[in-house]
Amino acid sequence: MPDAAPELDPALDLTLAAHALAAQPRAYAPYSKFRVGAAIVMSGKIFEGVNVENASYGLGICAERSAVFSAVIAGAHELAAVMVCTDASPPSSPCGACRQVLYEFARDPAAVVVTSINPAGERRSWTLAELLPDGFSGRELP
Ligand SMILES: [Zn+2]
Repeated sequence: MPDAAPELDPALDLTLAAHALAAQPRAYAPYSKFRVGAAIVMSGKIFEGVNVENASYGLGICAERSAVFSAVIAGAHELAAVMVCTDASPPSSPCGACRQVLYEFARDPAAVVVTSINPAGERRSWTLAELLPDGFSGRELP
């Protein structure tokens, strides 16, 4: 039997879900129409992100990474929780590139809960360690 899905503190879960849901309509996704909103906790503060596409397709960025980069601009470096909102059913998990970027800022990837939701109320959750087992980090650099 698989382990139970990891859970955030209920009040934080509600707050992050509200932020991710509120951010999602602000995504700039005129090409894919796949709008994504993210809300993360870094260094005790909440940061939102959305996916931002470009006519030169490869230049787009995901919501999770735009949230992390906003946090870093604000001086926050310690990731505690992630909430992602898409219209997908079941809710989409973060892409591989975002998993790696999230991992960079997770002191303990097994303690970072990543939750995906959709406006219909479906949800899935994992720890970051489950999403990126044996992830690459700066500790492996000389
Ligand atoms: Zn991504």
